[in-house]
Amino acid sequence: MADFFTTEQLEAMCEAVRQEWERIKHDQPPRFTLTIYPGKPQCNQCKVPMDKAKVCSRCKMIYYCSPQCIKMGWKLHKVHCSAFKHDGEQIPEYKAVTKQFPWTDVGYNVGGYFNGNFILARFGVLGTARRKVGYWATHGRGVLDEDLLDAPWCSLTEAEGWRLPKKFIPTLALQSSDSCPSFPPTFDSNWTSYYRWRGLPIASPAAMLLHWPLSVYACLKELGLVPENAVGARRKLTVFYVGAREEVCLIPVFGELALLFPNTDLELVIFGETTGHALQRARGRGIKARRPCVFEYTAPTVCGAGTVRVFIDCGNPTYYCPTRERSEHPDAIVALNAGLGTYISWQSVILRSFEFDIPFVITDYSETCLVSVQQIMDLLHQALTRAPASAEEIRLQPMLKKTLAEVQVADVDKVCAALKRERPGKLNAFMQPGLKGDDFSKLSPGSRNACIQIITPVT
Ligand SMILES: [Zn+2]
Ligand SMILES: [Zn+2]
Repeated sequence: MADFFTTEQLEAMCEAVRQEWERIKHDQPPRFTLTIYPGKPQCNQCKVPMDKAKVCSRCKMIYYCSPQCIKMGWKLHKVHCSAFKHDGEQIPEYKAVTKQFPWTDVGYNVGGYFNGNFILARFGVLGTARRKVGYWATHGRGVLDEDLLDAPWCSLTEAEGWRLPKKFIPTLALQSSDSCPSFPPTFDSNWTSYYRWRGLPIASPAAMLLHWPLSVYACLKELGLVPENAVGARRKLTVFYVGAREEVCLIPVFGELALLFPNTDLELVIFGETTGHALQRARGRGIKARRPCVFEYTAPTVCGAGTVRVFIDCGNPTYYCPTRERSEHPDAIVALNAGLGTYISWQSVILRSFEFDIPFVITDYSETCLVSVQQIMDLLHQALTRAPASAEEIRLQPMLKKTLAEVQVADVDKVCAALKRERPGKLNAFMQPGLKGDDFSKLSPGSRNACIQIITPVT
């Protein structure tokens, strides 16, 4: 979403939410009625707002005004209908993540739309200015100027970054063994258990940001790359974190990973248009390296002495594609909220991760998003193996052929087998709390980092 708004537009939206929060904060229960989120269903086909909507009879999720619009919309909707149905069935599981926290009692409007910004307004951390809201700053197009001026991004103290009461901050300033979480890490796969292990009261909204590092953890765990114990030789793990955007404001929050990867040197190399451009512009201010280390943290010995180093790559700021140089391959590629089926630049990453056996794992907003991943896999498979059969394929083939010409797949059989592999998605217990919805569906569930999918497994 942040892609399409300027900082000024975003700030205006934040202000509207802040004002609305001020207006309703004493109501029991607080209900919001923002004009920018009218909460009135709109027809998915003709976009007309309705008082009484019809829904798709199969998934029961998507709004339509009339049988005519249902019929006209079917050509596009049919691809995702079963995924929406599946998402709808999972609503209780999404809600269970959210309901662990007492502060998620607000943020639902009458139509069921959940607005996570309300939570931030409640804690006074909603806005675009990093000086005022620290790690919580919301991005407009690209990156905030003050972030550029503030390179290398990590100069805020923990208190300035989190902007929360001290007891709500997942501090990394762990000095006495009393304040350290128990070692080895012992928590179940849910936020409540994690908070308990971390010594955080459940009233803390830290999960609204902690889901970033915890999702990296969950992805690497899915790949089997999280150490079972801390014994033996120290391990080095290099992870390329591709397609980062808003995370540029909260890089120190990734220090959390040091507690989760004991006895490990975890190198997180961030690739992303926003970060890359920011770094290029910051170079004039003394940053010369292609891949400077912008953050480093080592956990206390009693917590396993894991180290996290975050680097930002500006060699090719828009995206990363594995080269044939095996020595440059990471142990894993992670992409959060990837949009793998949406952005063309992912196609070459997919193909090369198959050919070079580079473990690759993604998260996305919902399982509906994962459907388009399989579609792009099928199209790539077609483009590799035969001439286009339909007009739609002919329209898409030039793009796919361009990708294939660039990537030069050497082992077609291997890549084709990988493209056809089953890829089940699963819900991420450490997703951002809160459901995302829109006016065109009943409650299209989704959340940042909601689902995990392995694209290329560890071989
Ligand atoms: Zn309509
Ligand atoms: Zn449907």
